[in-house]
Amino acid sequence: CTLNGTAPAAASADVPPAPAYEDPALPVDDRVEDLLSRMSLDDKIGQMTQVDRGALENRSDLAAYRIGSVLSGGGSAPTPNTPQAWAEMYDSFQRTALSTPLGIPVIYGVDAVHGHNNVRGATIFPHNIGLGATRDPGLVERIGRATAEEVSGTGIDWTFAPCLCVARDDRWGRTYESFGETPEIPSAMTTLIDGLQGASLDAPGSILATAKHYIGDGGTTGGDDQGDTRLSEAELREVHLPPFREAVERGVGSVMVSYSSWNGVKMHGHRYLITDVLKGELGFTGFVVSDWAGVDQLDGRQGFTAAEVRDAVNAGIDMVMVPHDYRRFIELLRGEVRAGRVPMERIDDANRRILAKKFELGLFENPYTDRSYTAGIGSAEHRELAREAVRKSQTLLKNDGGVLPLDTSAKVFVAGKNADDIGNQSGGWTITWQGGSGDVTPGTTVLEGMRAAASDPSRVVYDRYGNGIDGSYDVAVAVVGETPYAEMEGDRPGSMGLDQEDLATLSRLRAAGVPVVVVLVSGRPLDIAGQLGGWDALLAAWLPGTEGAGVADVLYGDHAPTGKLPMTWMRSAGQQPINDGDGKEALFPLGHGLTYDGTGPDEPGDPGDPGDPGQERCTAHYRIVSQWSGGFQAEVTVRNDTSAPLDGWQVRWTPSGALTIGSAWNAVLTRAGDTVVATGSGWNARLAPGGSTAFGFTATGSPAVPAVSCSGG
Ligand code: BGC
Repeated sequence: CTLNGTAPAAASADVPPAPAYEDPALPVDDRVEDLLSRMSLDDKIGQMTQVDRGALENRSDLAAYRIGSVLSGGGSAPTPNTPQAWAEMYDSFQRTALSTPLGIPVIYGVDAVHGHNNVRGATIFPHNIGLGATRDPGLVERIGRATAEEVSGTGIDWTFAPCLCVARDDRWGRTYESFGETPEIPSAMTTLIDGLQGASLDAPGSILATAKHYIGDGGTTGGDDQGDTRLSEAELREVHLPPFREAVERGVGSVMVSYSSWNGVKMHGHRYLITDVLKGELGFTGFVVSDWAGVDQLDGRQGFTAAEVRDAVNAGIDMVMVPHDYRRFIELLRGEVRAGRVPMERIDDANRRILAKKFELGLFENPYTDRSYTAGIGSAEHRELAREAVRKSQTLLKNDGGVLPLDTSAKVFVAGKNADDIGNQSGGWTITWQGGSGDVTPGTTVLEGMRAAASDPSRVVYDRYGNGIDGSYDVAVAVVGETPYAEMEGDRPGSMGLDQEDLATLSRLRAAGVPVVVVLVSGRPLDIAGQLGGWDALLAAWLPGTEGAGVADVLYGDHAPTGKLPMTWMRSAGQQPINDGDGKEALFPLGHGLTYDGTGPDEPGDPGDPGDPGQERCTAHYRIVSQWSGGFQAEVTVRNDTSAPLDGWQVRWTPSGALTIGSAWNAVLTRAGDTVVATGSGWNARLAPGGSTAFGFTATGSPAVPAVSCSGG
C-alpha cells in the first residue's frame, strides 16, 4: 500500500504481493482466471446467487454466503425514496461484500425500464411502446444514456432492460414493454443498449444492460403472461430471435430468460435455446440470469427442488434470481455439484461470465456510487429529452375537419381520469411494480402542459368527469384510457374497451355539442371502433411518463405529430391476436400516423415527392429518419402509379455512391391506400469522406410491377 502519496518501496518480506486479479493493468481474462483459482465452491455458488434486497434483512448473510448479486425487483419490499438514500443503501451493500476475504464486489440490479423508475424524482421516459412509435433509434440511444447516468447516480450497476419482446397479442399485460409487433422495430431499438452500456462499461455513467425475456415472451397463446408460445422453430427464429441477435451483436452484457414456455417446455430449463442457440450460435459471451423465482417454478410448483436447480444451471443459466430462499438454493446447488450432476466446468463457466462483467464494469476499482451523477437525477436536461420523446411518440390516428392543432387562444374544456394524473400517465413499473394513480413522483401532467401552452391558462378549464361543460367551448379534450398495471395483472382476456367512467365522461362532452378530441393514455391499442364515430380527433399518447408537456406540444401544434403505430390497431377485441401479420382487417394498420398537413408523416418538399414540379414520373422517395453512431434509419415511400395491386410489394433499397452498409434489416412495410412506406435500418453504415450518396430502391411485386427507382438528396 502507499502511504502519504509516496511510492512503495520494494515489497517487504512480510507484505504479500497483491493478487493478480486486483491488478487493473492485466487483461480481464487473466484477472478472471486468477480470481477463479482462489475461489472455493461456496464462493462460486455465491456468485451465481442473486437475492432480493428485502430478503437480506440479516445483512451479514451477504458476506457469509458470498452472495454475488442483489436486486430491487418488482416484487421487492418498498425501496428508499430519495436518490441519496439509494446511494447509501448501495454503498453499504458494497462495503459488506468487500469485507469478505476475496473482496468480490456485488452487482446490483433494478428494473430501470423507462428511466430510473424506482426512484422518486427521476426522469420517467415513455414506455417502450411509445418509443417504438417514434421509430427513432438515435433518440432511444440518448434515452439509454440519460437513464444510465441517473441509475449511476444511485450506485446501481445494472438494469433489467431493454425488453425486446415482440408483442403479438394486445391482450398481454406486458404489451407496453414491447417496442413493436414485428422483429424489425425492437431490433432497431436495441440502440438503447448502446446508450446504457456507453462506449465502455467502465466509463463513468455506464451500466450493464439486459436483453429480456429470452425467448418468445410476446408470443404466448391468448396473450397469457408467462404462458406457452406455440410456434415452429422456424417461426420462433423468424419472429422472436432477431432482436436478441442484434442485442448480442451490440455486446449486451446479460440476457434474462423468459418465464414462458416454448411448445410446452419452460424456457428456464431449455438447454437447446439457452446454451446451443444463444451462447453457441449467437455467440453471446455475457451471463444469463433467470427471471424472478423462474427456476423454482420450473416444475409448476413453488419452492426449489434439486432437479429444478440442476436443470436450470445445466441448461445454461449463470445467475439465479432466487429471490428469497437463498439458503435452500445454495444448499441444493452445492449438493448437485458434489454429486456430479452439475459439472464443475458449468459452475466455472458461469463464474467466468459473471466475473468478467464485474471486472469490465470497473467494480473492483470503483465499487462505490459515483456521486457526480446523483444531482443529475431528474435534471432539466433529462426532462427535456423525455419531453422530446413524448412528442415524437404521439400518434395521430384521426383528425376530422382539422380540429387539431388547437389554437392557443381557444377555450378548451379538458376532462378524463388521465388528464391530471402523473401516476396514470406513467403506467406500471413506476415507483412500485404495479404503478399507481396520483402524485407518485414529480412531473408535469397533460393538463399542466396544456395550461402552459395556452396563451392564457384560464382558457383551459378542467373537470375530471366532464361535469359543467356547455356549448361555449371551442373544443373538448378527453384524456382517457387505462390505469397502471404490470405483468399478468394487466392481462385482458375479455373486454378491451374503455371503462364506464371514461364512457360516461365522453358522453357528457359529446352532449355539449362541441368537437371532441380524445387523447388515449394506454399501454396498447384499445377496442374503440364503436365510439370512434363520435370523436373528431384521436391521439394515441401511449404511456408518456413524467413529461406530459410533450403531449401538449403536439395538441397545440408546436410540433406536428410524427408517431407511427408500432402495433396494428384492432377493429374489435375478437380479432386478437391481430399483431401476427395474418392480414385481418385493421382499424388502423401498423405504421399508421397522420400529421397536420394531411399527408401523413411524410414531409412536404422532400426531394422526389410525387407531384413535385419536375418529378411527375418519380413515384418514390426516401428520407433519413435518424442517425446514430454506426447506423441510420431511412424511410422509403413508394406510390403505386401502376394498375397492379399493392399487396405483394416488397421494397428493397440498395446504397450507392460513397455509402456502404454492413447489414440492412428488411424494412417494415406499411400499406395505406396506394402508398407503401418501408422503414428499415442500416448498420455499420459508412460514408466515404467527402462523398455523397443516393439510395436506389426497387419495388417488386406479384403480379409483377415495373421497377421504380428514384434518387434524391
Ligand atoms: C419480471 C422481470 C423483472 C423481474 C425483476 C419479473 O417478475 O418478469 O421482467 O426484471 O421481475 O423485477
